[in-house]
Amino acid sequence: MKHILIIGAGFAGMYAALSAARLRNEQGVSPDTLAITVVAPEPRLVIRPRLYERAPETMVAPILELFDAVDVRYEQGKVDVIDSAQKSVEIVGSDGMRRSLSYDRLVLAVGSQGFKPDIPGLAKYGFSVDQLEDAIALDHHLNSLANRLSSATRDTVVVAGGGFTGIEVATEMPSRLRAILGAEANIRVFIVDRNEVIASAMGSDPRPLIEQALREAGVETRLGVGISALDENSATLSDGQSIESATVIWAAGMRANPLTAQIPAECDRSGRLVVDRNLRVAEVPTIFAAGDTAYALTDELGHRALMSCQHSNRLGASAGFNVTADLLDVPLEPYQQKNYVTCLDLGPSDAVFTRGWDAKVELSGDKAKAMKREINTQWIYPPRANREDAFKAAEWARLVDY
Ligand SMILES: Cc1cc2nc3c(=O)[nH]c(=O)nc-3n(C[C@H](O)[C@H](O)[C@H](O)COP(=O)(O)OP(=O)(O)OC[C@H]3O[C@@H](n4cnc5c(N)ncnc54)[C@H](O)[C@@H]3O)c2cc1C
Repeated sequence: MKHILIIGAGFAGMYAALSAARLRNEQGVSPDTLAITVVAPEPRLVIRPRLYERAPETMVAPILELFDAVDVRYEQGKVDVIDSAQKSVEIVGSDGMRRSLSYDRLVLAVGSQGFKPDIPGLAKYGFSVDQLEDAIALDHHLNSLANRLSSATRDTVVVAGGGFTGIEVATEMPSRLRAILGAEANIRVFIVDRNEVIASAMGSDPRPLIEQALREAGVETRLGVGISALDENSATLSDGQSIESATVIWAAGMRANPLTAQIPAECDRSGRLVVDRNLRVAEVPTIFAAGDTAYALTDELGHRALMSCQHSNRLGASAGFNVTADLLDVPLEPYQQKNYVTCLDLGPSDAVFTRGWDAKVELSGDKAKAMKREINTQWIYPPRANREDAFKAAEWARLVDY
């Protein structure tokens, strides 16, 4: 029996499993001849793009039934050692017990983590919406503010980072805080960013709309400065200013999961494994990478996949197809993703949808908001737990452009 092991049950891991199972089925190969296993700490997809919303504990979707429907095995636990020479991994279970599992092909799909630099007070007092537990901790903290007396410290939120995530967090905060603190509170929300402009990576076309949305939501910006220190009650900026706030949310910078460093291969500056067009790690041909752990070309023009669901879904589906093809002597199919779109949430009734690497605005206002709702409540959720829907979704994720 051959064995495909997928580490991670996020967007990339889930689609890798479905796509691998689809090709195995298409080739008439039984699960006893080619086994597919996903290992992850919990059998659920965390909907990370929604972690800035209220009730983050609800932003999860079960995937066990889905995996059962396509004969994918699930192993609970966290991989902490990858031995690529022996083709085996070590897994630590929730009970602390260690076990090892060997593989013929591995798909590494362990995602990314927010990067917190070594700023005094950040590790202790900074919040984030990066992982589910971070978002839940922030939600508890925000709810607990209702028990404090009104003050600038209580009523002010500072978001560090004016990129995609920072903007979504900041524009959501006024209404979230209003619901907790009531109409009387003097709510202030700041975005602090070292860049001189907001959304610096998004290009100039959507910027006026974003700036207008920030103004309308009452979000203030402090640009060209960074946070140099924070404590329980304030953030100090690099220009010496101080903002009184009990809530500093760090939303600047992502790094690939540190497990990528265990593979003896080249990584980019974010720690992502450099992969070829088939998503294989050149130095270790039995390993493929997908999602936020892969540094992959999307087209012939030199664009690279970003740390996003849009790229993770297709990277996962492509990697799943190719590991299976590799073991079944089927031709591999290069990963391609020519179209690139973004849909940026801008608060309760606004969003902006862009198309292309130069981010041309295609929709704004309530039309873009309707699209964002559809993306966030339907498109990024797992397919229904039956073979037909699962296999269709896997091929759609692998081949269909937006
Ligand atoms: C607040 C926020 C908003 C975002 N908004 C958007 C957006 O609007 N649009 C967009 O496209 N993208 C957005 N993203 C980015 C998107 O969520 C990520 O790019 C995407 O989740 C990456 O998918 P992935 O499968 O690579 O990793 P993840 O979704 O992070 O999944 C990683 C998986 O690996 C598992 N894992 C981790 N370590 C181990 C281990 N040691 N052993 C076993 N399993 C392990 C995890 O439990 C998880 O199952 C947002 C992210 C955040 C945080």
